[in-house]
Amino acid sequence: MTTLTFDSVNPATGEVVGTHPRQSAPAVHDAVTRAEEAAGWWAALAPADRRRRLLDYKAVITQNLRPLAELVHRETGKPTADAVLEIVLTITHLDWAARNAEKVLGRRRVATGLIGLNLSATLEYLPLGVVGVIGPWNYPVFTPMGSISYALAAGNAVVFKPSELTPGVGVRLAELFADAVPEHPVFQTVTGLGETGAALAGDPRVKKIAFTGSTATAKRVMAACADNLTPIVAECGGKDAFIVDADADLRAAADACLWGALSNAGQTCVGVERVYVVDQVYEPFMRELKDLAATVKAGEHYGPITMPAQLDVIRRHIDDAVKNGKAVKGGPESVRAPYVDPVIVEDVPEDSAAVREETFGPTITVRRTKDAQEALELANASAYGLGGTIFSRDTRGALRLARLMRSGATAINSVISFAGVPSLPFGGVGDSGFGRIHGADGLREFARPKAISRQR
Ligand code: NAD
Repeated sequence: MTTLTFDSVNPATGEVVGTHPRQSAPAVHDAVTRAEEAAGWWAALAPADRRRRLLDYKAVITQNLRPLAELVHRETGKPTADAVLEIVLTITHLDWAARNAEKVLGRRRVATGLIGLNLSATLEYLPLGVVGVIGPWNYPVFTPMGSISYALAAGNAVVFKPSELTPGVGVRLAELFADAVPEHPVFQTVTGLGETGAALAGDPRVKKIAFTGSTATAKRVMAACADNLTPIVAECGGKDAFIVDADADLRAAADACLWGALSNAGQTCVGVERVYVVDQVYEPFMRELKDLAATVKAGEHYGPITMPAQLDVIRRHIDDAVKNGKAVKGGPESVRAPYVDPVIVEDVPEDSAAVREETFGPTITVRRTKDAQEALELANASAYGLGGTIFSRDTRGALRLARLMRSGATAINSVISFAGVPSLPFGGVGDSGFGRIHGADGLREFARPKAISRQR
């Protein structure tokens, strides 16, 4: 029988990077069978033993940082330096998950507070068993590992379905794990297209799905999970807002805004896509932004668009923005496949596709607002709610706005920084999904609380 295969392709050069099997339902079934067996062994390890093995995995990734970054570069097209940063952040998270799992999940006594009963109680968080991880291509190491590291540290086995655009990176992550933990297949990768992910989501022996990808696919994954009541963490798209208040450091704000929009060539779920600037500082901020945007170059500061089909969405949004608003920098000519240069358009109506839908490219819309309150209201009018930014020197005011921003996380006077901090939970509201990865919440996401009470 011939095995169906697919290629991963370097989007910048068209070079075929690797050929991988399109694994169908029976192959996924076998992987889950192996994972179930491995899960029992992994869960039964003493916490200190599991921690040591995860730190061994960290050491193996560190030793292989260069070749792994090179593979990320070839499969996504992103500059190798960006791939290195992504892996370094991944290692930071893996280290945190390994070192904190026992403290967060281990057994503790709980006060019962029942008067007249001599009742004692404990609470602990037990492994779920097999966790299925379905990942995207934009940060093919950092994003899935944000689930995988925490799921493994919580004592689960993992079957990972990487994006069809970056299968080689996914396969390599599991191979490196096997170098550190050779005894059992605690972490396996299955390769393929959406059907492979659907088979994983539909397997009743998978006790949780950690999905990262588009909102539309998250709904299909939930449908596949429904029959077995398999719970899911859904990390979906975003349309992050960036607010510049009257007392902001404008140079720093422009710098962060451009970096947030251009980071990973705009292919970042918490990338900046909508900018709201209060009236008093609108002109000077725009001058700074335009000056900075004129200094960046394709291939040097940002890579290509990884997924060819995304170019159509970006093109449509640029056309829509330019037709209905006023172009400040760039326009339809900025799409030079596979690269897209930064595009800045002002006064785009809030109900247009360019403001409402995720672009996933380096284009931003900018709007002048009466004050920070109006900026916040417009920021919160999105169906998405993943991250966001506020630039202001007024700490109290910025904190107030940050709390009121409808998002899983908000950065003050920086951009995207929260995603790198291992102790902070990451996730969204609304169309950006639900559940949390990273931090103590991320560990608990991959465990089940077990309560025991005892009458003495
Ligand atoms: P996608 O939804 O197209 O694919 C994601 C994964 O789902 C892939 O592995 C794909 O093969 C798989 N898949 C497709 N159909 C499936 C099905 N029916 N059942 C099961 N699995 C299926 O997303 P993408 O293009 O790979 O990634 C880009 C999206 O991911 C953007 O919307 C971006 O905002 C989002 N993203 C979110 C985060 C976050 O943490 N919130 C991080 C990175 C990317």
